[in-house]
Amino acid sequence: MLINPVKGTHDIIGEDAAKFKEISFVCSLLAYQNCFEEIYVPIMEHTSLYSRSVGQSSDIVRKEMYSFEDKGGRSITLRPEFTAGIIRSVVSNKLYATRDLPLKLFYSGPCFRYDRPQAGRYRQFYQFGVECIGNTSYYLDCEVINLGYRMLNHLKINNIIVEINFLGDGDSKKKYIEELRNYFSSKIENMCEDCKQRLLINPLRILDCKNENDQKIIDGAPKMSDFLSDEEQIYFKNIISTLEELDVKYCVSNRLVRGLDYYSGVVWEYHVVSSENEDIGALGGGGHYKNLVKEIGGPDLEGVGLSLGLERLLHTINTNKIFPSIRDGADFTFLPMNEDLCECIYPLCEKLKDLNMRVDMIYHPKSIGSMIKTAIKRGSKFVIIVGEEEYEKEQVVIKNLATQEQTTVFIEDLDSVMTNLLYENYMSVKKES
Ligand code: AMP
Repeated sequence: MLINPVKGTHDIIGEDAAKFKEISFVCSLLAYQNCFEEIYVPIMEHTSLYSRSVGQSSDIVRKEMYSFEDKGGRSITLRPEFTAGIIRSVVSNKLYATRDLPLKLFYSGPCFRYDRPQAGRYRQFYQFGVECIGNTSYYLDCEVINLGYRMLNHLKINNIIVEINFLGDGDSKKKYIEELRNYFSSKIENMCEDCKQRLLINPLRILDCKNENDQKIIDGAPKMSDFLSDEEQIYFKNIISTLEELDVKYCVSNRLVRGLDYYSGVVWEYHVVSSENEDIGALGGGGHYKNLVKEIGGPDLEGVGLSLGLERLLHTINTNKIFPSIRDGADFTFLPMNEDLCECIYPLCEKLKDLNMRVDMIYHPKSIGSMIKTAIKRGSKFVIIVGEEEYEKEQVVIKNLATQEQTTVFIEDLDSVMTNLLYENYMSVKKES
């Protein structure tokens, strides 16, 4: 029992771990190139932060939060998402006053939701995302939508379609919610228990229901686009025409509301269009928030953000065999032919690790054949054979495991030879790919 992972959690091991790191690296690099700076926020926050911002009517707050009372009697929650914590940090550190606006931040790390585990849905999962705070231009919305789209392109996840919608704010939202309440009130008896609750707290959430029977009823519901003010309609049109100029593939989806209450303005999700992919839900999504900073105690600043689910990206990359097999094996593995040579070569092996190379060593000498097999299993590119005769002449033999070429090298030249070999190897692999 103790060796089972907690339900809904999973280990990321070996090649998957290497790919996971690559995904984070590509996303971070792009965020960095787009002038976003990294931020680290705590994994836990006061429960009230999420109940107020993510919203009482959201599934997250209603039933998915990992909340507990700490030893000081405070109600604490493991973050179900990042945006609220980032805004809390912006407000508590008064970043809006000390930095130029818009603040452009990026983050990554685990999130926790007590959801029903299924394909693409975990109880602990990783997100990568960005927030852009102090947003007064639709260009910033476009920049964030396009950044996520480009991240997916850079990860070679093609066939992405951005599902997009515009949620009104203030009067337009109020009127729309009223219309939805009227529409669903007469039909609610035939809808699921969750929708009955949603009708009472926030009828907008009904649009998000995945129940097949309810979806037929939802299809006939009034559309938000008919309730937007002129200003909101122009803003949305500007976003759409800019996305067209940027060649972002999109489709407007009237039912898209997203699961977080703080969104008002543009909302979107990234979906893969392919018949081969099992439906694991959106790869990521985002939206504009008009009132969140103020609600959390900051000034009247708007923001826009997106988050990508790293497990879903990994799943897509694996199903579509997008990344070549990535091994984090050693660049060089020392193979000493006996225990004495092992003792002689060990200090050099440790020193070489400072040269920005991955250096490994086999500590229990066996036959050369069996040590080479071990090095291959560990994914090593080269082996350095330390034989008695060569060592007496202060030499070792370096063998390229892919080409089987080998050269004898003086130990004092080893660092420069290894650096050159690694560089040549890198260039030839790059040429092939
Ligand atoms: P959200 O914070 O709900 O907007 O989710 C953003 C992205 O995080 C989603 O599009 C998914 O890719 C990912 N995600 C959300 N919930 C889960 C989950 N339970 N398991 C795995 N990934 C998730």
